[in-house]
Amino acid sequence: MAPPMLRLSYNDIHNAIASTAPRIMSEFSPDLFIAIGGGGFIPARILRTFCKVTTDGTKRNIPIQAVGLTLYESMGGIEEVAGSEVVRVQWIDFSTLGSKLKHGGLLGRRILIVDEVDDTRTTLVYTIKEMQKDIKKQLEAIEDPAERARLSEATKLGIFVVHNKNKPKAGEIPGDVAYFAAVETPDVWLAYPWECETDIEEHDRLRKDNPEI
Ligand code: 5GP
Repeated sequence: MAPPMLRLSYNDIHNAIASTAPRIMSEFSPDLFIAIGGGGFIPARILRTFCKVTTDGTKRNIPIQAVGLTLYESMGGIEEVAGSEVVRVQWIDFSTLGSKLKHGGLLGRRILIVDEVDDTRTTLVYTIKEMQKDIKKQLEAIEDPAERARLSEATKLGIFVVHNKNKPKAGEIPGDVAYFAAVETPDVWLAYPWECETDIEEHDRLRKDNPEI
């Protein structure tokens, strides 16, 4: 049987993010968003609205960088083979970050990775590992050991997802990576408004049939 489906409106997503943003600001205070495409793009853009930082009396937006990842479930033989592979289809192009780019782009920053849903956690764990590799490479390029140690300490990773499904996960988020989920859900299928290929008004009307969670 297909898992129960939860239809979500744009306002559901907006409200969930709005209610979590103050905690993200007070506990993590990001200064760079990395949106995992495509599901993380709209949540990252909404989150940015609630996470402005004031410098020299001016409210400023936090920049959003994008990475593109696809999860391919591999199937084999007659029985399905458990296992999946993340394919990196787009990554941060550090060379395009401009002349203001300092310390390779990631060092000394509080980087919040944004996605729509933490399902098996495969995508998030993969993204953290890849980001950690980039951070390590950028740290290795710093010659002064004291400066390298300072930047290493100052560089922080965090995760924000709109939904976290309460289910067994394929991997763990490292203890030094902050984790924020706007909504905890059981293992249901989440129907996001931006995936609606038919009538979005009908999609919103059908939310009344959502199971109680
Ligand atoms: P992961 O299993 O790596 O945590 O999630 C991989 C990707 O599967 C997510 O980024 C998302 O695109 C997709 N996915 C997983 N569960 C759902 C769901 O309930 N609804 C939708 N629309 N996509 C999902």
